[in-house]
Amino acid sequence: MSYLPDSFRMRLALLFGGLTLLVGLPVYWYVDKVFANQLVVERGNSLRDLAAAVSTVVAENIRERQREIDLLAQTPLYRRAPLDHPDVMKSLDRVQKSYPYYTWIGVTDAEGKVQSATKGMLAGANVAKRPWFINGLEGSFVGDLHEAVLLAKLIPTDPGRGPMRFIDFAAPVYDDQNRLRGVLGAHAEWRWATDVVNVMMPRNSAATGMEVFIVNRDSAIIYPDVGENRPKSLPASIDTSRPFVLDDWATGTSYVSTVVPVRELLPNKPVSWRIAVRQPASETLAAVDALQKAMLILAAAAITILLILTFWVASVLSRPLERLAKQAKRIEQGDEAASLENSTDVSELRNLTEALRGMTDKLIQRREALAESNLQLEHKVSERTAELATANAQLRLQARRDALTGLDNRLAVNERLHEEFLRMKRSKRPYAVLLMDIDYFKRINDTHGHAVGDEVLVAVAQLLKASLRESDFVARHGGEEFIALLIDTDSHHAAQVAEKIRAVIAAAKLPTVGHVTISIGVAMATPDDADEDESVRDADHYLYEAKRAGRNRVVTSHAPLAAE
Ligand code: GH3
Ligand code: MG
Ligand code: MG
Repeated sequence: MSYLPDSFRMRLALLFGGLTLLVGLPVYWYVDKVFANQLVVERGNSLRDLAAAVSTVVAENIRERQREIDLLAQTPLYRRAPLDHPDVMKSLDRVQKSYPYYTWIGVTDAEGKVQSATKGMLAGANVAKRPWFINGLEGSFVGDLHEAVLLAKLIPTDPGRGPMRFIDFAAPVYDDQNRLRGVLGAHAEWRWATDVVNVMMPRNSAATGMEVFIVNRDSAIIYPDVGENRPKSLPASIDTSRPFVLDDWATGTSYVSTVVPVRELLPNKPVSWRIAVRQPASETLAAVDALQKAMLILAAAAITILLILTFWVASVLSRPLERLAKQAKRIEQGDEAASLENSTDVSELRNLTEALRGMTDKLIQRREALAESNLQLEHKVSERTAELATANAQLRLQARRDALTGLDNRLAVNERLHEEFLRMKRSKRPYAVLLMDIDYFKRINDTHGHAVGDEVLVAVAQLLKASLRESDFVARHGGEEFIALLIDTDSHHAAQVAEKIRAVIAAAKLPTVGHVTISIGVAMATPDDADEDESVRDADHYLYEAKRAGRNRVVTSHAPLAAE
């Protein structure tokens, strides 16, 4: 059993549809997997480039601030002048003006008491507990991001922003004999990170969902430091040893993500910051989606066109076949005038048509030959039947003819008796039955031989036939006994005929034997008879009477007619 559809067109359509899928699926798979993967790799690499650039700029920026504070601490003013000298404060104000992100710069004595500060803020305050002072005593220092502690009360904050955050820079101040005099410290406002990152971001970054984060040593995200939905920390699931990864940052959205360390500035006191960049993978794969959509539309169009083409090709191929089948059907139904016409230029179909035409022509020829020989056969059969009928008729005649005398025999007598009896019953016209027996015949046989006896029988038969009318019936009843039926004859006339016969026989001169005589019994068949045999029995009775009375005589129901 086949699961294929019956129709040639449907099979072709299936074939072409299958082929389209066969070609289309690998292309679709390539676009979906290989091309998408390539796009992700390219995007990952470009995000990593951005992260590296941001990292460099952030590092350079911090280094520059650090170098600025270091150099300032080594200037002669700070080495030699009293740290609370007005010139020191003026110097600090100048530095602050040169770099707008400095919120506060100040110098302390070795015990942590602020000697001079920009705008005199916190002058005289003790900062001995602040990390920047403690670290600054020992050398150049850059601190992690922190919220304002002492300055928070002195500097008005922008209500739109969160708490004020700083990173601290610090450097020790020595005198010319390298004895520690104090610590020079600066608070830089974190706002500068925003500005640095903004400069680096590609123009369409917001539209494409690209985000840059600064991550501190504890994996906390310190930039951006405001925003409702910003991640608070770098997910541990991100493998930072790889150039980039796909990670959902616990949001359910897959991001192409990359993490690059910020080059360490002070290996002895590392800040250990990292720059993380992420972008939704869907942004990257949007191109794939668009391509896939275009491919689907193209594939649908291709399949539609293929199907139309298929049906067209199939009908071009199948139309001649259908026409051929229709013509063949007409021939099958007996329309021999219908012929198989060639209606295509496709060579296989043309060959098929010619082969079929040859076949039908031959079949028609054979059928005609068969019909012809049937006709001849029928003719022969009817000829033979006629011959048989003739032979049967002859046989029938022979069966009813006595071979010796040529008269009808006993079988014919019985049939004729039956017929005459029925006819008489209808017509009420009687017939006479004459039974005639040669007298002393045995003697003839005995004296002259059986052959002479036969000759006598033949001679008597001829005499009887000659003595009767054409309409009368005479037959050999058996042995040397004869019977005659005289149609439409009354008893009187019958007696006369019988007498005439007797006389003719008696008078006849036969070879070898000379004269023979016969005795005759005459009976009338009447409508009252029980059957056709009744009159025969009567005639036999009268014949017996004739023999008994001396032979050579006629005995009838009326009276015996004497011969002499
Ligand atoms: P009857 O006067 O009483 O009739 O005496 P019959 O001798 O004629 O009668 P019977 O019945 O005694 O003899 C008849 C003989 O006829 C006997 C038989 O051999 C002979 N016969 C019967 N049929 C044929 C035949 O076809 N050919 C010859 N040659 N003889 C026949
Ligand atoms: Mg007899
Ligand atoms: Mg006899």
